Amino acid sequence: MKAAKYEGKRKITIVDIPKPIPKNDEVLVQVKYAGICGSDLEAYKTGLYPSNIIMGHEIIGYVAEKGSDVKKWKEGDRVAVFPGLICGKCHFCRIGQDNLCVLEGSLGFGQNGGFSEYIHVKEDSLFPISDTIPDKHGTVFDQIATVLLALRVSDFIPECYSVILGCGTMGQFFLQYLKIAGAKTIVVVEKNPNRLNVANMFNPDLALTKVVLVKIRRFAKREFGGADFVFECTGFPTLVNDAINIARKGGTVVQIGIWDKPLEINLLKYVMNQIRIQPVWSYTKEDFKNAIDLVVKKMIDPEPIVTKIISLDDIVEEGFECAIDPETTDIKILVEP
Ligand SMILES: [Zn+2]
Ligand SMILES: [Zn+2]
Repeated sequence: MKAAKYEGKRKITIVDIPKPIPKNDEVLVQVKYAGICGSDLEAYKTGLYPSNIIMGHEIIGYVAEKGSDVKKWKEGDRVAVFPGLICGKCHFCRIGQDNLCVLEGSLGFGQNGGFSEYIHVKEDSLFPISDTIPDKHGTVFDQIATVLLALRVSDFIPECYSVILGCGTMGQFFLQYLKIAGAKTIVVVEKNPNRLNVANMFNPDLALTKVVLVKIRRFAKREFGGADFVFECTGFPTLVNDAINIARKGGTVVQIGIWDKPLEINLLKYVMNQIRIQPVWSYTKEDFKNAIDLVVKKMIDPEPIVTKIISLDDIVEEGFECAIDPETTDIKILVEP
């Protein structure tokens, strides 16, 4: 079968590899679409992942074959794939924090992922998808689930003032979900005009093309300036210092993007203003299930966010290179193997 093999920094090659054979408790899924994620882009730019892996963890597909013990699925079932490789037994899995499972693996970096024609997965990693939504909407549960985890671990409160830095896929879904969660005032900052246009479809209270500190801090129009929550979704973690400055005293910076290097933080502001920086890693299986519900019930709209579908052969130029171009007109790019 055809697959896109990640061979390290800025190197992805289309290869022909054997089609996987599902184990007894596994299902072989024919991939319909797999989304290119911000973490995949980071790996592409920096060489973060182990090489010789097939990336891709935002997957919708169809059951093609199944192992002898699989009872739940039949050929042709349309499924979304929960990509976490979780043990179900460790301390974290037992207390409902399976995003922190000791296995620390996921399809696309611990096991071959969806930039290939087929993947093999445990049967209980699959979720049925209602046919009321199109295939392309079945790839965004990963990002919405991250939003759900982020709001939970940061003790988000309704009626608050929130600032979203970056309107790529993550920032867009934060904007949509913060509205549902009852945020009072939402400011978005995004320098790419195409992405800002899409954000404007969901009515933020203020949309800026760059961080204008005074404007953002005063926008709350209250005796103390600054935001209660700042969601750092740019993929440029050096912006964490801007985020610290934007937050009010005692406010929370929610850190989504990853960065595999030491980072300078202005400790004075951070400590004096008692800012909390809350990291968010992935999401739990429960978050994934709840994210599916939000899309199926049309509470979240992926339509303007999934901007392009490309073939596997075009994954480098039309996919990764396009997505890392600051002038890109795209937000979420899907690969159709
Ligand atoms: Zn992802
Ligand atoms: Zn575990």
